[in-house]
Amino acid sequence: MSVWNFKLPCDKKILIKKNQIILGTQNKDKIRELAHLLSGSKILVLGLSGFPGHPEVVENGKTFEANARKKARVYSRRTQGLTLADDSGLMVNCLNGRPGVYSARFAGTDCTYQDNNRKLLKLLKNISGRKRKAKFICVMSLYDKGKFVALVKGECSGMIALFEKGRGGFGYDPVFIPEGFTKTFAELSPATKNRISHRGKALRTMKRAILHYLNRK
Ligand code: IMP
Repeated sequence: MSVWNFKLPCDKKILIKKNQIILGTQNKDKIRELAHLLSGSKILVLGLSGFPGHPEVVENGKTFEANARKKARVYSRRTQGLTLADDSGLMVNCLNGRPGVYSARFAGTDCTYQDNNRKLLKLLKNISGRKRKAKFICVMSLYDKGKFVALVKGECSGMIALFEKGRGGFGYDPVFIPEGFTKTFAELSPATKNRISHRGKALRTMKRAILHYLNRK
């Protein structure tokens, strides 16, 4: 197996093996889901923590695609490795697609997941039935040393629950009931969520693109 040895800007050396990819995210919940989804494949996963000195990427794009591309491009340049990044969020029909790309900071800059859920439930207080329709979107992009490799999208439709339910998952999981279910994402097992989620769908498509790319190298 070929191994690349390169110097990081902070002068620390790190080895990247040919079948390794770097997950370009700081979000521990996303890392957990992505690492789980890639487990059992030939692809080995590295987090950004092995690359001290990497820059904080400002997610100021107007679309999920712009943010996903920016994160993967910047981190892949800095790590000089094959890097996967996603941008994801919740779009609620009766809020004209909000919170959308602002999902992480819907209730303010330093807000918690619970702050976001409470704000959402409050906004939907007088909205009933089918009008509570929403969907999760995940756009994933893959860059290698600053060069674009692939871009995929996954969606999961559902409804906003009347109140928070369940203790699993993260983010809006306690208030999102996926289509065909009566439980929220936070009440479903991680395996069930991964099977039907926006991130699971995007990653299964991306996995094929990663393996195809690695086989050509
Ligand atoms: P990002 O880091 O800008 O992609 O932030 C995405 C935000 O969307 C997260 O902080 C969550 O609030 C929300 N989000 C994305 N994916 C999920 C999910 O699978 N479950 C619940 N919330 C999610």
